[in-house]
Amino acid sequence: MKGLTGKTALITGASSGIGQAIAIRLAQEGCNVVINYRKSAQEAEDTSERAMQTACQKSNVRSLLIQGDVSKEEDILNMFNQTIETFGSLDILVNNAGIQKECPSHEVTAKDFDNILSINLRGSFLCAREMIKHCLSQNRAGIIINVSSVHEIIPRPLYASYSISKGGMENLTKTLALEYAARGIRVNAIAPGATITPINQDWIDHPEKKAMVESHIPMARSGTAEEMAAGVAFLASDDASYITGQTLFIDGGLTLYADFREAWSA
Ligand code: NAD
Repeated sequence: MKGLTGKTALITGASSGIGQAIAIRLAQEGCNVVINYRKSAQEAEDTSERAMQTACQKSNVRSLLIQGDVSKEEDILNMFNQTIETFGSLDILVNNAGIQKECPSHEVTAKDFDNILSINLRGSFLCAREMIKHCLSQNRAGIIINVSSVHEIIPRPLYASYSISKGGMENLTKTLALEYAARGIRVNAIAPGATITPINQDWIDHPEKKAMVESHIPMARSGTAEEMAAGVAFLASDDASYITGQTLFIDGGLTLYADFREAWSA
């Protein structure tokens, strides 16, 4: 895709699932990739290895692994410092790190609520803030892509904290896009539908549960992490140079009100 070669991209939560696929795809497009991971250095190294193999035609592409928890401000500052020290600048931030936890809303603890919001939303905001500061200080353009969810618009019972965090992400995307559009900073989001990644381990290995999930999807199948990464690559590229403040739904039609596929009455 246009304009990605030679850029540097930082992807949070990049050692598995969608984040891993984004790191690999952006490396394939010629970007240096900063792979943030929280726990598993081994998974991060595997991601880096796969990204570098994919990028092997473009020998200038490099990867940097940084451990860090996006719910901790000091870890975020360290992540940006290390990135700028290594690469001199940063062009693309992908706020991908996210967690969810099932719980009836009336039983959610303040601790769990805060934890989900502090990773999914506050962490994304703080990373975006650092990215914007960096762009303004170097007087350079920048790209921020938030990995949101179809649940930024579809309410999700039993996952209120997650739903609220992704609803907030829609506003985060739009507010920052408007505030910094004239400074050359584009802010967009992708909203994945049901995607085959570790976050969905409870249903992807169970044919019955999987079939139930997929029965709600107009295209009748789950998405892949690579399909999500393709959307990120597009939004990060110069092919999307006039797009800001938008959420690209990559969901096999999940947000099209699947229950209306057939008429409800004669
Ligand atoms: P995943 O569990 O494989 O990825 C989440 C990543 O975030 C993991 O690598 C994890 O280590 C990392 N992470 C968690 N807490 C972190 C923290 N405090 N600091 C840094 N990293 C942290 O699942 P995934 O499906 O690849 O999820 C990626 C993103 O996609 C999430 O934001 C998720 O909400 C979103 N999403 C996923 C789906 C889906 O169906 N898989 C659908 C919609 C949205």
